[in-house]
Amino acid sequence: MNNIKKYLAYNKSVRVMAVDATKMVQELRDIHNLSNLATAALGRVAIVASMIASTLKDEDNRLTIQIKGDGPLGNIIVCADQKLNIKGYVSNPQVELPLNSEGKLDVGKGVGIGTLTVIKDIGLKDSYVGTIELLTGEIGDDFAYYFNVSEQTPSVVSVGVLIGKDGNVQSAGGYIIQPLPDCEDEVIDKLESVNIKLPSMTSLMSEGQTIDDIVVNATADENIETVYENEAKINCDCSLKRIQGTIIALGKEEAMKIYEENGKLELSCNFCNKKYGFSKDELDELFK
Ligand SMILES: [Zn+2]
Repeated sequence: MNNIKKYLAYNKSVRVMAVDATKMVQELRDIHNLSNLATAALGRVAIVASMIASTLKDEDNRLTIQIKGDGPLGNIIVCADQKLNIKGYVSNPQVELPLNSEGKLDVGKGVGIGTLTVIKDIGLKDSYVGTIELLTGEIGDDFAYYFNVSEQTPSVVSVGVLIGKDGNVQSAGGYIIQPLPDCEDEVIDKLESVNIKLPSMTSLMSEGQTIDDIVVNATADENIETVYENEAKINCDCSLKRIQGTIIALGKEEAMKIYEENGKLELSCNFCNKKYGFSKDELDELFK
């Protein structure tokens, strides 16, 4: 099932990415046993990551987003590759805060003040790093600011996660609208005025609108053209070999010390929580 699409609007002068990430964000919530607040925060970052990943050109291209805030959620890390395998975690997944003055999950307060960094590995030697100061910590605003300042691409960014009364993710998704260099000023003005008035992504999704419908509404262009479809999914690429590398980096003395103190050495992957345990013999073998 394809849940992410790219479109061109206004005679190919505007690029749009949009994703229905309801299933993906639910999966993140299940893997990390996330609070509502943490689901919204990590979910929003993963949604934007999937859309940026859809713009990566080559198979080996990868993307890491780091949000380092001083709020109670701690850091948020999301990685994505060109095939739209997404993985992510938040330092303090169980944090909950009172709703904000609008009755919404207070993601801004949960994230706090800090930085947003996007690292794109594009090819063997090329890596692009852009960092901004967080604007509000609400994620959507911060990425709009990031695209404008760091990539010189003025963008409309809408992203949302709605938790239902049953404690499941009811709807989650987002879109990014980016005028291309030949876009007319009138079109840019129109996009701005339309998007200021448009209800949130999750309200539109809850009304039953598909991402196609939402993009038509958000661009006010009936003639959008779909140019890409794919499936963004949660998928971790951790392996025994990689975890062994972490233990080797720890050093024999330190690894053995942890083993002796706990009667075992067990490491779990930050991204998927898979546990890797090592016996004394396996450690001896590793450090031989
Ligand atoms: Zn993993």
